[in-house]
Amino acid sequence: MPTTTTTPTDTKTTASPAAAKAAKQPKPLPAPNSDFYEFAADLPAEEQALIERVRAYMETKVQPIINKYWVEDSFPFELLPSFKELNLAGLGINGYGCPGGSPLLPALVAINIARTDVSFCTFYGVHSGLAMGSIYLTGTEEQKQKWLPPMARLEKVGCFGLTEPLVGSGAGGGLTTTAKRDGDSWILNGQKRWIGNATWCDVSIIWARDVADNQVKGFIVENKTTPGFSVEKMQNKMALKVVQNGQITMKDCRIPDANRLAGGKGTFRDTARVLRGTRHYCALEATGLQMGAYEHIIKYAQERLQFGKPIGSFQLIQELLAKMLGNIVACQAMVTRTVQLETEGKLTDAHAALAKAFCTSKARETVSWGREALGGNGILVDYNVARFFADAEAIYSYEGTYQMQTLIVGKAITGFSAFV
Ligand SMILES: Cc1cc2nc3c(=O)[nH]c(=O)nc-3n(C[C@H](O)[C@H](O)[C@H](O)COP(=O)(O)OP(=O)(O)OC[C@H]3O[C@@H](n4cnc5c(N)ncnc54)[C@H](O)[C@@H]3O)c2cc1C
Repeated sequence: MPTTTTTPTDTKTTASPAAAKAAKQPKPLPAPNSDFYEFAADLPAEEQALIERVRAYMETKVQPIINKYWVEDSFPFELLPSFKELNLAGLGINGYGCPGGSPLLPALVAINIARTDVSFCTFYGVHSGLAMGSIYLTGTEEQKQKWLPPMARLEKVGCFGLTEPLVGSGAGGGLTTTAKRDGDSWILNGQKRWIGNATWCDVSIIWARDVADNQVKGFIVENKTTPGFSVEKMQNKMALKVVQNGQITMKDCRIPDANRLAGGKGTFRDTARVLRGTRHYCALEATGLQMGAYEHIIKYAQERLQFGKPIGSFQLIQELLAKMLGNIVACQAMVTRTVQLETEGKLTDAHAALAKAFCTSKARETVSWGREALGGNGILVDYNVARFFADAEAIYSYEGTYQMQTLIVGKAITGFSAFV
């Protein structure tokens, strides 16, 4: 069928010499952009400015040193003074010395920290979401007044102790750490495993089974000064290596009743309430992780030459890149909606569980395509993608595995519980 479009010959005859010269210059390549559908544009200007500060901090202070710390299995304590200045601890919490902010703000902050490094995002999430979140959601007014301000200033850093050496997925019904009331105190005995920040933090939120009523209760433990409390660093991890995970042992630790989280129901429902928000946080981490990996890969694909051409010009590489971007946009859309549900007070456990399961499984897929696109350099930490690749494994399993999230969703949509 004949067409009416201009042919290349027409262009040649009508173009001026200057335009023809300009046409010969290589076109500037697009900068890597993982916010393809412009989700960040929804923030008010002042919050947008904070996101820009977080991105700049992560790119200039964290990115240059993080691979070294990741390889060495150590935490960059040198960053803490400058990180404090960003005033991010307790974001989304109003009052108690916390910075407040719209619900979308903490979400975008988490995404933009994870975009550079997921270990750093985990350190921040454990402190701000799990530890401060436990006190905020299940503590008494006095406890919030006492603990949240110094934690918001990062003068005291927190951890969250739920998992045990022999109890992971089954924590709801099977915790073996015990709490026994003794006058104005409680005596804690047991072990906790995998606890992020535990080797160096100041405040441990410990979940233990009350021997009197068999219910799970939370306790604020001042771990550095409580006799009987010890922590051993977990060695030889192959993911999230910057996070310092510890195995905690508690032998007759005496905790004042004033430190029992008594603002909730005093059952595992309190723990689940905290986890609802932090599982959502895992979906944000998974989204940021994919965005960071994708941007490194786009840059690499624009620069790396094979057969005399950038590998990004090959169709099969472009297919990988487009599939990665599709996953990223799907996760961004999902977490944007979960933030809206959270804002409206409608976020259920099943909503959070589906977001965690979906985004972390997509993250695994995205980084495996990304690693593939880098060829051999995809397994070198120096090129960053290997770090994201390994870290995706940890977030797929922590705060409730993919299977546990799926069972929560399955129960909500069928009405049948398939938990054993
Ligand atoms: C890097 C990292 C950081 C962590 N940080 C913390 C922390 O700060 N605080 C904390 O308390 N915990 C933390 N955890 C622990 C984490 O939450 C647990 O690893 C997770 O809940 C899974 O428990 P588990 O490892 O004991 O696996 P298990 O429960 O032993 O599960 C093993 C496998 O069996 C499957 N499975 C179990 N039960 C069922 C079932 N009924 N049906 C189908 N499949 C099932 C699981 O999905 C999984 O695939 C961390 C873990 C990691 C890896």
